[in-house]
Amino acid sequence: MTDLCELVPGHIRGIAPYQPGKPISELQRELGLSRIIKLASNENPLGPSPRALQAIREALPDLALYPDGNGFELKSALAERFALTREHVVLGNGSNDVLELAARTFLGPGTSAVFSEHAFAVYPLVTQAVGAAGIEVPARAFAHDLDALTGAIRPDTRILFVANPNNPTGTLIHGPELLAALRRVPPHVLIVLDEAYTEYLGPGQRYDAVAWLSLLPNLLISRTFSKAYGLAGLRVGFGLARPAVTDLMNRVRQPFNVSSLALAAARAALEDEPFLERTRQLNAAGLEQLAQGFRRLGLPFIPSYGNFLSVEVGEAARIYQSLLRQGLIVRPVAGYRMPRHLRVTVGLPEENAACLAALERALAEAA
Ligand SMILES: *Cc1c(COP(=O)(O)O)cnc(C)c1O
Repeated sequence: MTDLCELVPGHIRGIAPYQPGKPISELQRELGLSRIIKLASNENPLGPSPRALQAIREALPDLALYPDGNGFELKSALAERFALTREHVVLGNGSNDVLELAARTFLGPGTSAVFSEHAFAVYPLVTQAVGAAGIEVPARAFAHDLDALTGAIRPDTRILFVANPNNPTGTLIHGPELLAALRRVPPHVLIVLDEAYTEYLGPGQRYDAVAWLSLLPNLLISRTFSKAYGLAGLRVGFGLARPAVTDLMNRVRQPFNVSSLALAAARAALEDEPFLERTRQLNAAGLEQLAQGFRRLGLPFIPSYGNFLSVEVGEAARIYQSLLRQGLIVRPVAGYRMPRHLRVTVGLPEENAACLAALERALAEAA
């Protein structure tokens, strides 16, 4: 008798599962350690925005009610922030949901999606899940090769994924260069510009992709509350695109994909500019602290514009295990074809210092 699981299409059975950062509770169970530092998932070391926490408390009594499936208030706040209309916004259960909605709306069997080598793992994953072909384009010195990416577009291509800054490499394409390349993308391709780390960019690095929506009718910008806003556990993100695009994505979307607490918290976090500023400052100092430490240890790293650094440690799997035994969780990136690197999220100053000390011990052990 045929097992029903064997009848599942090959493109589903062939999916390599996403490897999340190891949860603190799991390492606690395994090693019985009390003090564990997690610098593995690019979470905000300051915790959530306090205004978001307050909004959640205020929303708790209404938990028996379904959330607003159209997210009127959050969309209004976003529309105002970006000088767009609510119809330009699609909300997601994390921006992961936005990426998946784009794939489910625009891809399917007989189509393809283009993305870079060392780019966010979710792009190949959502592409494969809908039976489309993934076209992975070699990176140049760990960064997106824009000419190669646009050159890889085929007549059956429907999505080009670009992460800027990219995870796990932290590389950035500067605005003018990016816009010039995106203008060459043919109109049958949706550009998914994933800006999960855009809030971390300093004044000299910022560019305004939202203004490009009027130049590029095939642009979808994806943003998240998981990183700089400190709300990864809540799952809320959003996409910005012209209304014809969001309208299609909204038809595919689960009617209540963003919870009421997430809607309330995101709206409050959006207004919490002081929290964002503290986050930015802590991150800039932490990047510098880690970079200095890596230099002192003689470890090459990829200069990063995000809230993490990928550092070349040699036998990364062994170093990772040694760090775990010391109660430090970082992220192996062998699945991103970077078997010699580990990705370290910027933490609090004392967490960064503990990470560097643990790394020094791990390297001494491995020597
Ligand atoms: C973390 C991350 C996201 C999104 O995460 P969500 O929590 O689903 O919003 C998206 N893209 C990149 C490149 C990321 O690193």
